[in-house]
Amino acid sequence: MSTTPTPTIEFKPSAHPLADAEREAILADPGFGRHFTDHMVTVRWTEGRGWHDAQLVPYAPLSIDPANMTLHYAQSIFEGLKAYRRPDGSVATFRPEANAKRFQASARRLAMPELPVETFIEACDALVTQDMAWVPQHGEQSLYLRPFMFATEVGLGVRPAGEYLFMVIASPAGAYFKGGVKPVSVWLSEDYVRAVKGGIGAVKTGGNYAASLVAQKEADAKGCDQVVWLDAVEHRWVEEMGGMNLYFVYGDRIVTPELTGSLLPGVTRDSLFTLARELGYTAEEGRISSEDWRRDTGNGTLTEVFACGTAAVITPVGTVKSRSGEWTQGDGQPGEVTLRLRKALLDLQTGAAPDPYGWMHELG
Ligand SMILES: *Cc1c(COP(=O)(O)O)cnc(C)c1O
Repeated sequence: MSTTPTPTIEFKPSAHPLADAEREAILADPGFGRHFTDHMVTVRWTEGRGWHDAQLVPYAPLSIDPANMTLHYAQSIFEGLKAYRRPDGSVATFRPEANAKRFQASARRLAMPELPVETFIEACDALVTQDMAWVPQHGEQSLYLRPFMFATEVGLGVRPAGEYLFMVIASPAGAYFKGGVKPVSVWLSEDYVRAVKGGIGAVKTGGNYAASLVAQKEADAKGCDQVVWLDAVEHRWVEEMGGMNLYFVYGDRIVTPELTGSLLPGVTRDSLFTLARELGYTAEEGRISSEDWRRDTGNGTLTEVFACGTAAVITPVGTVKSRSGEWTQGDGQPGEVTLRLRKALLDLQTGAAPDPYGWMHELG
């Protein structure tokens, strides 16, 4: 299926994009995922025909049949990546090919057709190019791209659908931390699990988030910002935090939970592996239990913990709470290694630093 010829995107832009002043007012305080740009890209897939009807059209609601298969059986996948405005005014996206490949892996796991990598990138490029004025100018702001795909076939029989819609929408994103980088507090979820080996935890699908919400509510009730997931079998090995991967800093050595098949292989996680080594740290995958976390914090060997992902970049972890107790990382302030890695990644993404890895995809 990945050999389907790439359809060319037909541009049908809006005759009524939002007025400059209104767009500027939104960009002054965009928040996250609250406002959407003037356009969207849609590409259809039908059994026997493959990918077709690639279009850039005005952003608008969809009309959905009540028996749409996605509403009932959740064949739905998504991605998240960002476009950044660079000091010279040009715009670039960060590692879109990595997202395109992960999107294919998600499609395979959910028995959906694979979108060619070049169509994924072309769709993102088309939307960013058309809505270039929506890419914010300031510091850590960016335009968040949300590619996604879902079944459009109608019917209640349980099987892979024969029709899908791929779309890309875009939303301006402000600096995630308004008052500077602040550590989050986390709740170790010992009752609820997110994903199990052989399940869908390693791919980006809404079902993982649906499974997470009740634990997030529990975290809220415990006064914590985020949930940390443990493995589903022993409820012991640390996997992820909400929709972000975790790194444990042992002095000059940073360790991230290995990809066991139940956690999501983040593009940020992968990028930090490279950046950390460049900065002189040792970066490894490993297994860290909740007991290790607590003990090593207590004896001072585990100096910092941070979470990483596209939306919030790098977020320090401050206080950790579980049924058996509570502890705080370091002095509760963002750690030195965390801040150094965060700056290195953001500098590369925003064009303040060179990109020796060819990660930035320039759009002119
Ligand atoms: C998207 C996601 C991440 C982070 O991936 P990035 O590619 O770095 O944005 C981590 N965990 C989960 C569950 C995710 O959905």
